[in-house]
Amino acid sequence: MLLREVEYARPASIDEAIRLLAEHDGARALAGGQTLVNVMKARAASPDVLVDLADLAELRTISFSADQSALEIGAMVTSSQIVGSSEVEVARPILAEVASTIADLQVRNRGTIGGNICVNDPTNHFPPLLVALGASMTIQGRDGERTVSAEEFFLGVYFTAVGEGELLTRISVPTRSAGTGDAMTGITLGAHGTYIVSAAASVGSVGVRIAIGCVSSVPERATAMEQQLVGGDYSDAAVKAAAAGLGASLDPPSDVHAAADYRRHLAEVSAVRAVLQAAERARG
Ligand SMILES: Cc1cc2nc3c(=O)[nH]c(=O)nc-3n(C[C@H](O)[C@H](O)[C@H](O)COP(=O)(O)OP(=O)(O)OC[C@H]3O[C@@H](n4cnc5c(N)ncnc54)[C@H](O)[C@@H]3O)c2cc1C
Repeated sequence: MLLREVEYARPASIDEAIRLLAEHDGARALAGGQTLVNVMKARAASPDVLVDLADLAELRTISFSADQSALEIGAMVTSSQIVGSSEVEVARPILAEVASTIADLQVRNRGTIGGNICVNDPTNHFPPLLVALGASMTIQGRDGERTVSAEEFFLGVYFTAVGEGELLTRISVPTRSAGTGDAMTGITLGAHGTYIVSAAASVGSVGVRIAIGCVSSVPERATAMEQQLVGGDYSDAAVKAAAAGLGASLDPPSDVHAAADYRRHLAEVSAVRAVLQAAERARG
């Protein structure tokens, strides 16, 4: 037997899903199953009840907020949906560009943006990107819903602001205004492989936001580098100078793929590349 026996529920509404999650201590939401089922097979997690979100059509939509200032992405939207979305193409194409590089088609067809960020694996693509874009997450529980910024959302590996008996329902990403450019880059294991280090940057009229992935359990904002670029000089020399010292400010892990010092070096290189590309796109 691959999995130990588990109860399975397929609620027809968000309220019912929240009720089921709140009522059962060992209940877990099931999105695309691309991580959760693998973790269960490895016996690293053994939920008593799986609350499958598959029938919650309202979590599968991509739309604009009433004032058009944000793209509202349902938690059950898959990476493939993001790649093919005309709304994303118009409002924040970097989301599709990045989603298209995640793993393979099968994973992109099943894996959801909600699952991707709820796992908060430091090597995942969406967490640093959403921090750089200034996204916010809406979480719903029995007492209603609340919205947290991407930085407040990520608390640790498999640990987010989503509490017991709560669901992540949507991710709001500010729509791109004129003069905004976004980019994400990094070093992966193979062409569509896992990141060893990643960097996402968004350059706009109010400055630049930079987030580094794979250097700690949550995406790290490169605030000192951001501050050095406040004047808006995105020349090669200025961006490289701003990145100097970024690596030293980080405390990344050493593992089989990269030593901590190498990750520090890659963080600086990736941040420079991401900012230069974002600035070039901002210039149009
Ligand atoms: C071979 C392989 C390679 C991969 N490589 C990459 C990669 O390089 N980069 C990358 O970014 N991703 C990668 N992934 C991850 C993938 O893209 C998915 O994002 C990830 O597996 C989780 O999404 P899911 O929808 O399958 O979530 P699930 O596995 O169903 O759920 C994951 C966790 O999130 C919780 N959860 C899910 N949705 C919600 C919600 N709405 N509210 C509250 N909790 C929720 C679940 O309870 C569970 O704990 C890879 C996956 C595989 C299998």
